[in-house]
Amino acid sequence: PAFSSLGLSAPLLKAVEEMGYTTPTPIQAQAIPEVLAGRDVLGVAQTGTGKTASFTLPMLEKLSHGRARARMPRALILEPTRELALQVAENFEKYGKHLNLSHALLIGGSSMNEQRELLNRGVDVLIATPGRLLDLFERGGLLLMQTDMLVIDEADRMLDMGFIPDIEKIVRLLPPRHQTLFFSATMAPEIRKLADAFLSAPQEIEV
Ligand code: AMP
Repeated sequence: PAFSSLGLSAPLLKAVEEMGYTTPTPIQAQAIPEVLAGRDVLGVAQTGTGKTASFTLPMLEKLSHGRARARMPRALILEPTRELALQVAENFEKYGKHLNLSHALLIGGSSMNEQRELLNRGVDVLIATPGRLLDLFERGGLLLMQTDMLVIDEADRMLDMGFIPDIEKIVRLLPPRHQTLFFSATMAPEIRKLADAFLSAPQEIEV
């Protein structure tokens, strides 16, 4: 398929073209239409398969169609490490270059006060590690009642690093009806169990 057949609009197609991408990777071709249709997705894919764009592009597309009241965050991307969160934020900026959407990178090692100020000004997307997100939430000022899109990336690493209880807490802070995209490099039985707990009737994509 071509990028233009996946349901993405001109600002995103332009950004993708400027990055030199000619064809969607298999995970992008399969995931993007499902995410746009509002379905939960279970993606079994390693880094290097283009999985970041497979959730970032349709997320940007969906967010470009409306504004939240009071600019509360409408989407949350959880990453197991600062480095991965930073990479996703860089990708987000590139793909979203022709759209007017903002994000906050909520990771350890940077000033909590600066992050809180950013949140007060209003952001569309949060890119966070689970611990820092909960810290900020507990200090107040982080409103998640319009965050109805959640990405749990690198779920197998989240499990190894002991982050699942934090993620469970975070999920309980979101509105009951939200769309979840869950990615893991492997599909061991305990990951499958987690996926069952976090997803409802997901489209399963393995690349
Ligand atoms: P990821 O798996 O998301 O870490 O992406 C791996 C690398 O592939 C990144 O450097 C992306 O910029 C690149 N990439 C993602 N999608 C495509 C595509 N459709 N065509 C060419 N390169 C891509």
